[in-house]
Amino acid sequence: MRARLSGGHFRMLNEKLYTCSGQDAFDYFKNEPELFDVYHAGYQEQMSHWPEQPVNVIIKWLKSHNKSWTVADFGCGNAAVAKNVKNKVFSIDLVSDDPSVIACDMAHTPLEPSSVDVAIFCLSLMGTNFPSYLQEANRVLKPSGWLLIAEVRSRLDPNTGGADPDKFSEAISQLGFSLVSKDEKNKMFVLFYFRKKEKSKVAKNIEWPQLKPCLYKRR
Ligand code: SAH
Repeated sequence: MRARLSGGHFRMLNEKLYTCSGQDAFDYFKNEPELFDVYHAGYQEQMSHWPEQPVNVIIKWLKSHNKSWTVADFGCGNAAVAKNVKNKVFSIDLVSDDPSVIACDMAHTPLEPSSVDVAIFCLSLMGTNFPSYLQEANRVLKPSGWLLIAEVRSRLDPNTGGADPDKFSEAISQLGFSLVSKDEKNKMFVLFYFRKKEKSKVAKNIEWPQLKPCLYKRR
């Protein structure tokens, strides 16, 4: 009964995060930080059914690259990236009782411009204003820095009402990035590897596709 109730609560919070702006989400959780724990307990429960978790693929990738790279983990959740790599990691999320996590709306972080080598969004492009998170990543990334985005497959599958993945990549290219590779072999998520251009220039009117919410089913 208890698990059922908290499952329902998780789905309500999840839907809220996907259908409001980052600022509204920040205000909401700031007033009731305990809801964040409910959200994350439910999130971990959902993830435990995935054959592979994107955060683990990203951790492996970081371990196989330069450990002197500085990383920004946008929407870090339980900060698994920071806990599992040697790199300096700025972990960012809406709420945290962990002092190493920067609690803010990730559209506006306190990070310095051109200060990080890798920006990560692992299932975290949730708000209706998600392009502003990517603009913020662009601001804090150094030239040639990496942008890694893992998103739920159904959000980027036009056959199930999701966005066209090519339009999504195209919008990010217009922000000043090149798509290096796309890992589509996982059942539940797609992982994009972009690099910021050496001399990147943001296009004027970027056409961002809409990303539909990822609503989890009752189990
Ligand atoms: N990246 C983690 C957690 C994914 S859940 C992992 O892969 O395990 C998505 C996370 O993004 C949640 O913790 C949520 O609070 C965070 N998030 C969503 N919108 C945000 C925003 N505007 N600012 C900061 N964090 C945000």
